[in-house]
Formats: sequence, C-alpha cells, structure tokens
Amino acid sequence: MTNFDKDANAKKRRIFRIVGFILLGIGAVFTILFFISFFSAFGDFDSGDSIFKDAWMPFVGFPLMAIGGVFLKFGYMGSLFKYFAEETVPTAAKSANYILNETKDNIKDILGTNDKNKKQRVCPKCGALNEIEDKYCFDCGAKLKD
Ligand SMILES: [Zn+2]
Repeated sequence: MTNFDKDANAKKRRIFRIVGFILLGIGAVFTILFFISFFSAFGDFDSGDSIFKDAWMPFVGFPLMAIGGVFLKFGYMGSLFKYFAEETVPTAAKSANYILNETKDNIKDILGTNDKNKKQRVCPKCGALNEIEDKYCFDCGAKLKD
C-alpha cells in the first residue's frame, strides 16, 4: 500500500467519522425533540395537540442515527481492527499457551511421565499410587519398599 493510498484512506475515514457524528447528532436531536413533544403533549391535553403530531420525527431520527452509526463503524473500523489486533492477539496467545500447558500436563498424567507421578510409589501388591514418603499402602496396607 502506497502512502497515497494510506492518506486517501485516512481522509476517507475522517469524512466517515465527521458525517457519522453529524448524522448521529441530527438523528438524536429529532428523537429527543419527539420525546419532548410527546411527553409535553401527553401532560397537556387542553392544548388540543395530538401526542402523535410529531410522530414522524423518530422515523427520520432513527434511520439517521442508524446511518450515522454505520458511517462511524466504517470511520473507526481501522482503529477497531488495530485495537483488537493489539488487545486480543497477546491474550489469545496467552490462552493458547495456557491450554497447551494444561494439555501437556494431562497428557503426561495419562502417559505417567508427569513429574508429580515420579514422586509417587506404586504399591507392589495392589498397584495403588502412594506418596513417596509413605511406608504402607493407603489402599491395601501392604508394606511399601524403601
Ligand atoms: Zn496397595
């Protein structure tokens, strides 16, 4: 990617952000105006105003906010990707390492090559695993070899 492309993309993103904020702002204003109108008309029946006289406002406000949100998404997508790349990749690598280490231990356990198992003594009579310092098998009570 050339510098020109980068600059063009940055400019495009900036425009997306600005347009997104403006659309979101206008949409929010319409929506807020609607709620103000709705609730003031609601508490004031004598004015004769319909509570739905401004009901068109959300129909303009919500799509504007939605479009603004899409623009903002595009405007910040690069930053978001960068953020996620920086934030999640080390964490994912850490998790993967953790899982691998755990798995390694489990595989060692299954194969009986784990260090923990080396400090245990197999009972000659029943085959139970005893602590290395035990004199008698916890399971069958047979004397364990020194
Ligand atoms: Zn035993």
